[in-house]
Amino acid sequence: MAQNYQTFLKEVLIDENTLQARIVELGKQISADYADCDDLLLLCILKGGVMFLCDLARHIEVPHAMDFMAASSYGIGARATTGSVRIDMDITVPVKDRHVLIVEDIIDSGYTLSFVMDTLKVRNPASLKLCTLLNKASRREVDIMVDYVGFEIENKFVFGYGLDLDEKYRNLPFIGVVDEDALKNDA
Ligand code: 5GP
Ligand code: MG
Ligand code: MG
Repeated sequence: MAQNYQTFLKEVLIDENTLQARIVELGKQISADYADCDDLLLLCILKGGVMFLCDLARHIEVPHAMDFMAASSYGIGARATTGSVRIDMDITVPVKDRHVLIVEDIIDSGYTLSFVMDTLKVRNPASLKLCTLLNKASRREVDIMVDYVGFEIENKFVFGYGLDLDEKYRNLPFIGVVDEDALKNDA
C-alpha cells in the first residue's frame, strides 16, 4: 500500500475553513484595490501556487486573465533554497502595460520571487504586485515587497494546498507541518 500523508503530518497548521475564509478576505481586498483596472493579469507561479490561484480567483470580482510561470531554485538539497533561480517555463503572453498580480504559495528566502520579479520588471508591466498565501518573514535573505499575505508562518517546513512534500500531497485541502522524524525514518 502506498504511504498515506498522515505518516508525515506532525500537525495541521491551517485548516481548510481558516484557509478558505482568509482567501475570501484576500479576494475582497484585491477586488477593491483593482476595481478600476480593466487589464488585470493573475500570474500563478507553478506548481505551488495552483490551488491558491483557483480558489482566490473565484473571489476576485474584477475581470481578469490568468497565466502561468514556473521557476525553481536549485543547489543544496530539495528543501533549502540557494541564490540560483531558473525560469523553467515562461509566461505565454506579453506583460507590457498590463497590471500583473503574482500569485505564489510561499515566500521563504525570497530568492525565487525576487528573480521572477526582476525578470518581469524589465518587460515594463503597468504595475507589478505580489500576493502570497504564506510568508516566512523570519527566513528572508533578500528584500522583497509583498502586497498581500494570507498568513505569516514560523520557520517550519509545511505541505499541502499546493505545497509539496517531495512532489506529493499538493492536493490536501489544509496546510500541514512536516514531521521531520518520520521523514528521516523514511529516507
Ligand atoms: P524562496 O526562494 O523564497 O526561498 O523559496 C520559495 C520556494 O521554496 C517556494 O515557492 C516553495 O516551492 C519552496 N518552499 C519554501 N518553503 C517551503 C515549505 O515550507 N514547504 C514547501 N513544500 N515548499 C517550500
Ligand atoms: Mg512557489
Ligand atoms: Mg517544492
